[in-house]
Amino acid sequence: MEGQVQGVGFRPFVWRLAKEEDLAGLVGNVSAGVRIEIQGAPPRIEAFRQRLQTELPPLARITRMEAKKLAPVAAQREFVIEGSGKGGGAKILVSPDVGVCEDCLADIADPANPRYGYAFTNCTNCGPRFSITSSLPYDRATTTMACFPLCQNCATEYANPADRRFHAQPVACAACGPELWLVDNPATGPTHSTPENRKDALIKAARLIVSGKILAIRGLGGFQLACDAKNAEAVELLRLRKNRPHKALAIMAADLDSIREICETDEYSEELLASFRKPIVLCPAREANEFAPDTDSIGVMLPSTPLHALLFEELKSLGVKQPLLVMTSANPPGEPICLGNREALKRLGHLADAWLLHNRDILCRVDDSVVRAGENPVIFRRARGYVPESIPLNISGPSVLGCGAELKATFCLTRGDRAFPGQHIGDLQSPAALDFYEQSLAHMQRLLEVAPELIVHDLHPDFSSTRFARNTAELTGVPVVGLQHHVAHGMACLGENNFWDPALALCLDGSGLGTDGAIWGGELLWIDPGRCQWERAGQLSTFPLPGGEMAIREPWRVAAALRHLAGLSPRNREEEIIWQMLIRGINSPATSSCGRLFDAVAAELGVCRAVTHEGQAAMRLEKLAKEWREGLKIGGEEFLGADGKVNSVEIFRAILAMKESGMEPALVAHRFHAMLAGALGRLVEVAGARHGLETIALSGGVMQNGLLLHYLQKRLYELGMKVLLHRQLPPGDGGISFGQAVWGLALARAGKVNGGYGIQGSKE
Ligand code: ZN
Ligand code: ZN
Ligand code: FE
Repeated sequence: MEGQVQGVGFRPFVWRLAKEEDLAGLVGNVSAGVRIEIQGAPPRIEAFRQRLQTELPPLARITRMEAKKLAPVAAQREFVIEGSGKGGGAKILVSPDVGVCEDCLADIADPANPRYGYAFTNCTNCGPRFSITSSLPYDRATTTMACFPLCQNCATEYANPADRRFHAQPVACAACGPELWLVDNPATGPTHSTPENRKDALIKAARLIVSGKILAIRGLGGFQLACDAKNAEAVELLRLRKNRPHKALAIMAADLDSIREICETDEYSEELLASFRKPIVLCPAREANEFAPDTDSIGVMLPSTPLHALLFEELKSLGVKQPLLVMTSANPPGEPICLGNREALKRLGHLADAWLLHNRDILCRVDDSVVRAGENPVIFRRARGYVPESIPLNISGPSVLGCGAELKATFCLTRGDRAFPGQHIGDLQSPAALDFYEQSLAHMQRLLEVAPELIVHDLHPDFSSTRFARNTAELTGVPVVGLQHHVAHGMACLGENNFWDPALALCLDGSGLGTDGAIWGGELLWIDPGRCQWERAGQLSTFPLPGGEMAIREPWRVAAALRHLAGLSPRNREEEIIWQMLIRGINSPATSSCGRLFDAVAAELGVCRAVTHEGQAAMRLEKLAKEWREGLKIGGEEFLGADGKVNSVEIFRAILAMKESGMEPALVAHRFHAMLAGALGRLVEVAGARHGLETIALSGGVMQNGLLLHYLQKRLYELGMKVLLHRQLPPGDGGISFGQAVWGLALARAGKVNGGYGIQGSKE
């Protein structure tokens, strides 16, 4: 039996079924999965076989089942669970951290239960895993629970196969487990619990929140900052302290009903919200809100731990109806989420008013994951609840390390025919973030028991991830290969879909260094993963970025550049300066970036002159476009120029003309999405015909734009193309490391890596 069958309560489940069906035999872990031997009455065996598949524990999944007839064992009367012997070995995997389950929620809400009100309740079906496990085998001794010896009661549960806590490594109760306490003054507050503080911690925390204070909570994968979401002043204060004027803040609610108050949900989003992953799910907002002012949706989640659930109970008992909490990663700007108690008291001194602390240590930071549910789910940030799950591949090879990009960085390690993308790290620019990156990588290597045999990095020489790759290669002698950013995007999508034949990849994003030294970002690529070759098969026509980096922060500059190219005159002094820069070619690098084209249109339509966070202008433009509710004819084919490029300037000129004609901005924004999709569709059609290809992978951060993706998919289907999308990985730069890693596997398979340095498979 193969699949997610280890460390998920599978063996006790099999044991219980066998007992119920009156069967004898054994169940044990083997390297590939689980082995069951069973004997008894044939109808009972058949029933066992069926129930095995229909009554699986929540976290278990069977991917392959093989049955064989064995000779009866006369002496076997009982059904037993074999201990995990050596057979388990390197294939055993630690599961992601699992959100609190319904049974445990019931335990903590029941005054008669010994775990009533206990914040660290967990069982085989839920609780921390990845974030508290240091190495294999996954056993209490290798987790941060090692320092809490089990009490008699917990030990009995742990040893009883009929119990929900059988072999639940982090099992604990108030008598033997971690403790909770509250600190309201970082200078004088206790750094450990006192009996009185322990009892009152949750009550005090709830009171502080009700009075508009900001609370730092030690969650599953690190600290979070929480405040009353219904208190506008508290939310404002949090934004001010975090220096985060517009970026979305996630909301945690006690139950789905409270979420439905502020968001529209559907079967997809509700299923995901309630799933064991407990991610932040982006749902359409019922009305304009201060939580995510740049979009028409709100990121919402349900309590992921008993601690959160208990806090909501306290809020309710203080008379708060349907409490909502803003819940955001607790980190100083540009730095990773806080981990330890002392660290949090020090680093969050200016951010929080009080700290809800505990002494179950977190070994590895994991942020909350962010997902948009739907028929085509989009993962924005892959972390808690997902990592360290693997992506299955149908090729295999040496262990490859993909080092990722610079923003929204991740790494990815492969082992055999599996890829293990690491958790979202964030922007690698600060030394603290780079530390987090290196620690997480070391953690993952320990859990997987692998060392990379090939390293792949981005072509950008100044990325921290590139420098890390080269330094590591130098230190270890492991071969290292550079891969162009957008090829990595394309490979990520192809690899995720296990598509290894030649295909086209449309990769739209903010920027990535091209092989010609220019800034790319609106690319159609031809990729042959089998021979590790690629070429540029189409692009957006380039336009300048006056001021370089500054143009990324100030989209009006990009709009001005496109106005200049469209032959218009400057309207004011500011624009005159831009015109001068462009005429003299001062600090105005050329780009084919699709993200920047969105920025320019957003600025031109007056929704975003300057950004306070990445992607803000494009988000606002999409929000504006969605205010126009009717679907439009796609059109836009005329924007594919004679040079084979999608003409950015002509598209911008069309926007200007629509604006000039007095068309409603929402309609202009909507038409922009539709006609850009049409122009790109035409580009794909022409290249597809030229190369004789019908498969197109869609990747890059721009693919997070639901409206563009809608039109693009529609057009590509009309053209009869087979469209490949991301489902398990972010389309943005969070997926780059996986693309690099599978490229490395492809290189190895093609025999293009030997000893020293790999060969870069570009035809250019
Ligand atoms: Zn549970
Ligand atoms: Zn106990
Ligand atoms: Fe990118």
